[in-house]
Amino acid sequence: MRGKEQLVRCDNCGRTVSRSKAVVDERVMRYGTDMNNKDIKFMTRRNVTYCISCAKHKGIFERKKQQAARAASRYDT
Ligand SMILES: [Zn+2]
Repeated sequence: MRGKEQLVRCDNCGRTVSRSKAVVDERVMRYGTDMNNKDIKFMTRRNVTYCISCAKHKGIFERKKQQAARAASRYDT
């Protein structure tokens, strides 16, 4: 299908955006079954999709920039 882009839904506002315009953020969620037992923890990774305005509002671009800078500095040293 030419000229048709796959649409994804913004997880924050529910707006439908094309996949190329959507911003995907990876969230790591931590769960502890018992507050006193810190050994038992579950970690799940969830991809959250935002439209551009929500990504801007949540500062995801800034965070991604920081992550990129951190990764670059890691390679330098
Ligand atoms: Zn949105």
